[in-house]
Amino acid sequence: MEYLGHKTFGEEFCEHFDVPQEYYVWAYAPDWGYYLSHEHNVYLHRFTLHGFNNVQTCINLLKDKVHFPYDDEYLDVINALVVSHTYLDLFNNYIVPSYPRSGTFKGLPEQRGYYLKVLLGYIKGDVPKPSEQEYRNAFKKILNGFSDPWDIEWYMSEEFKGLPQNRTQITEILLDIY
Ligand SMILES: [Zn+2]
Repeated sequence: MEYLGHKTFGEEFCEHFDVPQEYYVWAYAPDWGYYLSHEHNVYLHRFTLHGFNNVQTCINLLKDKVHFPYDDEYLDVINALVVSHTYLDLFNNYIVPSYPRSGTFKGLPEQRGYYLKVLLGYIKGDVPKPSEQEYRNAFKKILNGFSDPWDIEWYMSEEFKGLPQNRTQITEILLDIY
């Protein structure tokens, strides 16, 4: 998912759970590309800090950095936001094995046909891009189904593992805007 999607999700998340707004940055933390000269790298960022095995590494690396607020009180929030990043990236593309800990090439099973559509879109130059308002509306709908940040982390991690419970709810809302 593009930067706007992650940013909007982070903002809506903080609003929904009444968390200080500056915590939204954790929603795009894995894109920071810490191992690639500490800066965001458009082309290579997907090779570092993505994947669910990198969540703790990502938090440890970034928690003392200027842009990333950290307080133990908000650890559930930070975890859920970092997990949401990989989940939302998975939604319209595959995740490649990522440095340092995640060795899994992974996509969500239901989205396989969709990944092909996106890939062809890139080749043809007409990748669909939702507007900020479309992202916002979709994320509000998704977040309304959750009353605790930990539930979001759990749900998104389970779906990544390919377990079959309730997975269509988020998928349908997201497919609606693409
Ligand atoms: Zn990413």
